[in-house]
Amino acid sequence: MIPEDHPRYASLVARERIADAVKAGIVVIEGASAHGRGEAFDYLLGETTTPSAAGAERTAAAFFMKAAHPVISVNGNTAALAAEAIGELARATGALVEVNLFHRTETRMAAITRHLAAHGVEVLQGEAERLLPLSHDRALCLREGIYASDVILVPLEDGDRCEALVAMGKTVITIDLNPLSRTARTATVTIVDELTRALPNIAAARREMTMEEADRLVRDHDNTRLLAEAMATMQETLSHALD
Ligand code: ATP
Ligand code: MG
Repeated sequence: MIPEDHPRYASLVARERIADAVKAGIVVIEGASAHGRGEAFDYLLGETTTPSAAGAERTAAAFFMKAAHPVISVNGNTAALAAEAIGELARATGALVEVNLFHRTETRMAAITRHLAAHGVEVLQGEAERLLPLSHDRALCLREGIYASDVILVPLEDGDRCEALVAMGKTVITIDLNPLSRTARTATVTIVDELTRALPNIAAARREMTMEEADRLVRDHDNTRLLAEAMATMQETLSHALD
């Protein structure tokens, strides 16, 4: 048991979840490494949702509100860390939930689907087809899910897949603690925040949003500004680390 008064409680709980999910066949060992990269950037953010990230989360809610066919794409790390929050966001936005894996096997697909279902998430099922302009199994998705989406949330996404989705004309929202990643730089909306902090904020913003606010946020959205603000916060942390 991790003591609740440990200063790194949240981080240790997240690591334990990832480790348990590796044992359960939900997260691949490469996913544990990707988690570590995220943690390093979160340290530079102060492990908190910055005002800029909170704004990005509201903007994401606005794009969801204006979507005709929103989809949430879930991978192993996302399922391991945030199954309940995915369900909550799906209910708040009316988005479909599709499991989409970089390291895809039918066993893993089934394990993740079961884990999500156990946490109250209804997962879209069907025959995956090679519909994304990518080589290998990364191209696989559901015709009535990711392929048909106009707005898609891809947390912790690989840069290549993010680029392919943008090239298909979709509005791509990502959650990625690394503002320098290709995913962060390619997405339509980049939320530089930790997954488990970001998801409930998007759901809460969506529940209280008016169409008027959604229109304004979509119109005024500037992703380069979001990235610059995240980088400025990180620079600030480093500049004052020895004060
Ligand atoms: P890219 O291919 O986009 O240039 P990458 O190779 O770093 O970047 P991956 O490792 O495929 O991307 O994806 C993981 C990304 O998700 C990393 O950028 C990492 O910083 C981020 N990340 C990991 N865990 C979390 C988390 N819990 N919350 C938010 N972001 C996270
Ligand atoms: Mg990558």
